Amino acid sequence: MNHARKIGIVGGGQLGKMMAISAKKMGMDVVVTDPTLDSPAGQVSDMQIVADYKDANSIKKLSKLVDVITFEIELANDKVLLELIKKGIPVHPHPDTLSIIRDKFLQKKFLNKYKISTADSYEVHSEDDIIRISKKVGFPFLLKARTDAYDGRGNYVVGSMHDIKKGLEKLKGRALYVEKFVPFVKELAVMIARTADGKIEAYPIVETIHKNNICDTVIIPARVSSIARNRALSLSKKVVKNFKGAGVFGVEMFLTKNNNVLINEIAPRVHNSGHYTIEACVTSQFEQHIRAVSGLPLGSTELTSKFSIMKNILGTRNGDGFPDGLEKALKIPNVSIHMYGKKESRSARKMGHITVTGNSLSECLKKAEKARRLLVI
Ligand code: AMP
Repeated sequence: MNHARKIGIVGGGQLGKMMAISAKKMGMDVVVTDPTLDSPAGQVSDMQIVADYKDANSIKKLSKLVDVITFEIELANDKVLLELIKKGIPVHPHPDTLSIIRDKFLQKKFLNKYKISTADSYEVHSEDDIIRISKKVGFPFLLKARTDAYDGRGNYVVGSMHDIKKGLEKLKGRALYVEKFVPFVKELAVMIARTADGKIEAYPIVETIHKNNICDTVIIPARVSSIARNRALSLSKKVVKNFKGAGVFGVEMFLTKNNNVLINEIAPRVHNSGHYTIEACVTSQFEQHIRAVSGLPLGSTELTSKFSIMKNILGTRNGDGFPDGLEKALKIPNVSIHMYGKKESRSARKMGHITVTGNSLSECLKKAEKARRLLVI
């Protein structure tokens, strides 16, 4: 079978941009759909359809221009994508995967069905439901929005009975569920690639450090025992095997004491915790995703450097998307800086990231922290 040469990406953010760059590197054509004119991915693609991710007509239009459709966001319209599959248009990963994963509660119940451990989760529809469940899970617990919740937006930590009303107020109008608090010792993540015929390649297990619910730093490889690493790896592979379709999946986990591993959540796409793969692995997660969805063989997931650190560059001011301090930061050896080309910076918006590679983890960390301090955006 011929591999896909024209790639359609639903979503034009930084993930789409880095996917598009990889596709262009392999000589493919790329069309993206995104509501923002001149989106990050639109800037490096052959064409952008300017429309909402959920807009049925523009997704159908996209399908006429490309050989395969993939997505960089869970907001993509799973129903329209499913219609396309039924008409024989390849969509990867499978829209059924998207439908399960986009609802965090449904995702957890799906994983539990396959005997995969997650934090205990309970469907709730009212304050009374939450009070009843709080007696079972104890305080603190998390009140979470089931959909459209990323980077911690849509999560509320309920510390006491008194907090329940506040959480409900904050997440008003959204379908919710309660999640038991996990006293984790570390957060881990891994990128797993799968081809349409079921071949799997895993990247190294990494450690993620979140600040204010947003990923701040990724440490590669994770500083954990071999028991924890192997458990995390085999659990993640088991997870990915249960979802349909090709592509790269991000698996986020909690490591608790006694080396127990629980799944936190799955992303049916490339992921922030895999950005380091651009500089630190033989094949980046973005190239791997394009290979997987277009029917090409997977590349090696091996590290090309002993250690690596990835740090996100989050906005701290309202202003344009160009950072001050780039000249100084780039003087630091082995520092790579990716800016996403977003037109406006806002507080906590992901504007770019820094990757450092090297033979000493503490040196990598020092360099990444220094580069981060020098960049003002
Ligand atoms: P999420 O977007 O739901 O993955 O949550 C963002 C971050 O909140 C996670 O990376 C954790 O640091 C924290 N978090 C989420 N769920 C839990 C939980 N059940 N117990 C403890 N911390 C959590």
